[in-house]
Amino acid sequence: MNTETEIKDCVIIGSGPAGFTAAIYTARADLKPELYTGLEPGGQLTTTTEVENFPGYPDGVTGPLMMIQLQKQAERFDTKVHYEMITEAEFNTSGGIHKLKVGNKEILARTVIISTGASAKWLGLEDEKKYNGGGVSACATCDGYFYKGKDVVVVGGGDTACEEAVHLSKLCKKVSLLVRKDHFRASSIMENRVKNTPNIEILYNTELIGILGENNLVQSANIKNNITGEVSNIECEGIFIAIGHSPNTSLFKGQIDLDDQGYIITKPDSTETNIPGVFAAGDVQDHKYRQAITAAGSGCMAAMDAERYLGVPPETYN
Ligand code: NDP
Repeated sequence: MNTETEIKDCVIIGSGPAGFTAAIYTARADLKPELYTGLEPGGQLTTTTEVENFPGYPDGVTGPLMMIQLQKQAERFDTKVHYEMITEAEFNTSGGIHKLKVGNKEILARTVIISTGASAKWLGLEDEKKYNGGGVSACATCDGYFYKGKDVVVVGGGDTACEEAVHLSKLCKKVSLLVRKDHFRASSIMENRVKNTPNIEILYNTELIGILGENNLVQSANIKNNITGEVSNIECEGIFIAIGHSPNTSLFKGQIDLDDQGYIITKPDSTETNIPGVFAAGDVQDHKYRQAITAAGSGCMAAMDAERYLGVPPETYN
């Protein structure tokens, strides 16, 4: 084991908007943050195309460019970015020094900001990859506007699918909602909202089995009724997969309090976790808003929480 003897003030895990915003703020507070990008530097935004809802970009910006700029801004204030993945975490339940591992290298830190994000779940169809960015999306808030006045399909029967379908119904001509069972999983309030929206058609017992298109642009959804076996096509230009998200927390299981879906639990109005000195920001602790701007906001909160925590005289947290 190769242990770095220097104890870092702040280690940030994850390189999405939450992580880089936490880096900008902790760097400017002179905490000399060290950020570990993980396997997908830039996070979920690097898999989207145009971002039009992040304030300050009147003409929009591509997700990858926005992440490059956030990283540049963090590095301008001496954030050290490591293109490595933290493979193990050993948190000190009474605060003090936390241990992280990258392979057989051990890193010691007084504060850790976890911003490892969440990943949208996909059906696993080859066509999802083929048409990603050409009509297939996992975020209606991000991409719905591109389908203004058009027909779209939403897959899923939970609260996310209902929320996305209602959001899209305000922009699109028609929304076909594919629910694989004969009932919703969503809360009844969301289910009723969907049922009371005239331009949403609910297709129960229906699954997406393929996507048809030309030049990598979606033209129709190939669907199957799983009771009758009947296969048909729905003409559409957008397909939104809304079957849930998985927070990237497997690394922290047993180390930190997670809710029953695996999201890190933070204290109300704070990014503090149950471990003193360990903070969580962005989608890894938020299954409700999940926006780049809200993730960035909570990254800022985590940085300020970490700074305040370190302001506590050392003997009280060592
Ligand atoms: P859920 O796990 O609640 O629902 C997932 C839905 O997708 C289910 O209908 C499920 O079907 C369906 N599904 C899963 N896999 C497949 C598949 N392979 N093919 C077809 N359908 C599939 O996820 P959500 O993201 O909807 O919600 C997650 C949590 O976040 C929930 O607790 C929810 O209440 C909460 N939430 C709250 C919101 C709010 O308060 N405004 C907004 C959004 C989410 P099946 O039922 O058959 O398993």
